[in-house]
Formats: sequence, structure tokens, C-alpha cells
Amino acid sequence: MSNLERDPHETVAGGLATVSPEPTRRLLEPREVPLGGTRAMVVRRTLPHRDLPTVGAWCFVDDYGPADVSRSSGMHVPPHPHTGLQTVTWLLAGEVHHQDSVGSQQRVRPGELSIMTAGRGIAHAETSPPDHPPLLRGVQLWVALPDGDRHVRPHFAHHATLPVVVDGGLRATVMVGSVAGERSPAESYTPLVGADLVLDRDATARLPVEADFEHAVLALGGDVTVDGAPVPAASLVYLGCGRREIALAAGSSGARLLLLGGAPFEEELLMWWNFIGRDHEEIVAFRTEWEASRAGAATRFDPVTGYDGPPLPAPELPTTRLRPRRRR
Ligand code: MN
Repeated sequence: MSNLERDPHETVAGGLATVSPEPTRRLLEPREVPLGGTRAMVVRRTLPHRDLPTVGAWCFVDDYGPADVSRSSGMHVPPHPHTGLQTVTWLLAGEVHHQDSVGSQQRVRPGELSIMTAGRGIAHAETSPPDHPPLLRGVQLWVALPDGDRHVRPHFAHHATLPVVVDGGLRATVMVGSVAGERSPAESYTPLVGADLVLDRDATARLPVEADFEHAVLALGGDVTVDGAPVPAASLVYLGCGRREIALAAGSSGARLLLLGGAPFEEELLMWWNFIGRDHEEIVAFRTEWEASRAGAATRFDPVTGYDGPPLPAPELPTTRLRPRRRR
């Protein structure tokens, strides 16, 4: 998905700009962001957060739906660019058709992972297929690429089958990295973990995690406690580093969660609109190239194969210089 905020300020890091080396528990509420375009859709954004720019290299978390799309054409995000990041598309309900500038055409379904490595630059479009199911629910995640890999050739991968770890009433689908020795085939460039967790009603679980990673858990639905403290739906609880396991307990309706973690990402990052770079000049250059490609010029952003319609224009840059942020 595109970051369609009207006025996409660079990330401003607040209280958790410093990585917690010890286990902690800090609840972060989502903010509702209306996505622009012809069909209004509101997403719940927990990263980047005023108080937390990244968790590992995870740098963007949008949670959307369930949306009734039975009487509409559903999701329609025209071609837009990305740089310096990977997008991870994960659906809980519905279907999305992905098309990109390296020629990919992919139907994404629940339980399947699409991971697009933008590297030096890619463009993609996401639309509901004409015969889409009535409900749409999903998360859109971004992973920042480290400096040594952020200019890689853009590429796309789809993983229809992922490892699943079952332990009592917990079912963990490993999206990225590994859980309990089960490793996802998805490519990552920094030590990272991402998993979809389903807890049966009244189930408790101790989820094993890497002590060197920092972690966070996003509550997708149901009712759940983490470390004994409730996590309201759509909130993200930041857990810091230094844990070997995370204690989870579901209430009578069961729960669905997303585990996000990784080695703390300590490079400077500058996120603006759909670009990740390292400084103001680089972001300006990305934007200039995207606007030139919209006018038909050959740039780092090739046209999206098979999409019929105009691409998204880049927003205006702010009048002040964009400043990168770094965690310590
Ligand atoms: Mn996108």
C-alpha cells in the first residue's frame, strides 16, 4: 500500500528513540490515517509512532479493515514508488492483486506472504480483483534496508506456503525469520522476525524469542494479555530487548496477534512519503525522478506492467529540510 497521508512529515522520534536493552512494556495506540484517493479507507498506523520509529528494521505498520467491499470495487492504490525498503503484504481476509514495475502479477490471499524488495527503486499498484470476496482485512508492513543493501536490484517474491508452529492453543505462522527453529523462506537483510499468532479461547502460551532482538506485539483482534497486561485491539505493545519468551494469554474469544522483532536498527533513516533514504537531497532526487517518470521519462522507476491508469503524484515537499532520525 501507499503512504497516502496528505502531508507526510518525516518521522519524529520521541520517548523510545533509545532502544530498551531490557524487557519493558509500553502500550502504543494507533492513529487513524485516512488514505486519500477515490475510495476513502482508514488505516490504523502504529509505526512509525511519535514515540517509536522502528522495531528492529520494521518501520511501518498499517492495519486495515475489516472493510465491507461487497458493493464497491474495493482497494484501489494506483502505481506509486518505493525506495530503500521491503513491503510485506499480509491478508487476514479478502484478496489483493499486486502488479509492479519488474513485471510481477500476483494474487495475494490470506496466509500467503508477498514481499517486495524496492532496493534502488520500484513502483507497484494494489487493487481488489473484480471477483473479490466481500471482506477485506490486512496489514501492510515495511522493513528498512541496511545501507549496504538499500540499492539492490528491485525484486518481488510470493510465498504461498509458510512454516507453522503449533504449541497447545497457539498457532504461529512464520512470515519472516524463524520461530522455535522453523524458518520462513522470505528474504530479509537484517536479523528479523515476523509471525502471525492465533490463540485459541482461554489459551496461554510462552512464545520463544531471540534475546538479542527487540520485540513488539500488535493486537489484531480478540482479547489478549501480554505479560499479564491487556493489549487493546489495534494497539502495539513495545517489549524491548532481553526476552527469551513472551507470555501470552487469550480471553474467551481467543486472539489474533502479530509478532514483530529484530536486531535494533541503528542507522540513520529518513522516511518521507513512500521513500526511505538517508538525507534530504536523496529524498528530493527520488521525488524528482518519480515525477519525471510520471511525465514519461526513463528513470529508476519503470512503468507498472499491466496497470491501466495514471500513477499517484508525489505530494509537495515541505518548505523545511527533511531530517533523518537515528535510534541508539
Ligand atoms: Mn506500496
